[in-house]
Amino acid sequence: MQDHDKSGIYKLICKTCNRAYIGQTSRNLTFRYREHIRYIKNDDPQSSYALHNLQNIHEYGSLKDTMSLLKPIHKTSMLIPYEQLLSQTFHHNRNLIPEQNCGEQNPLFLLATALHSHLPTTALNARSAQTSPDLATLELT
Ligand SMILES: [Zn+2]
Repeated sequence: MQDHDKSGIYKLICKTCNRAYIGQTSRNLTFRYREHIRYIKNDDPQSSYALHNLQNIHEYGSLKDTMSLLKPIHKTSMLIPYEQLLSQTFHHNRNLIPEQNCGEQNPLFLLATALHSHLPTTALNARSAQTSPDLATLELT
């Protein structure tokens, strides 16, 4: 199965400024792409992607060139959390179109950030665990 026939989280790039819109669909990417383009053609900004293109007079590209699957998802309940996580990541890296509101900080995003900053602590814990058998030996002698 091609990526464009799958459901999940996708990235749709603006052809003019190269910034991304992050979306989710429980159907497939091709269907969703056609919807975004129809909003633009009808001057009806029902998505932030359409709003971005209409407001800034930016161009959209072809499905093949501008839309890609970021994460295939089958479980409908996982669509929203992953959409938030990925749009916040793109926003954090300043690659998201400004029209897209990526919402409040997602717990998964905070967890991902926390796991990174806690790496040195984990290393310290591992070292103290190694030294404890030595202490036990000292007490015996
Ligand atoms: Zn743009």
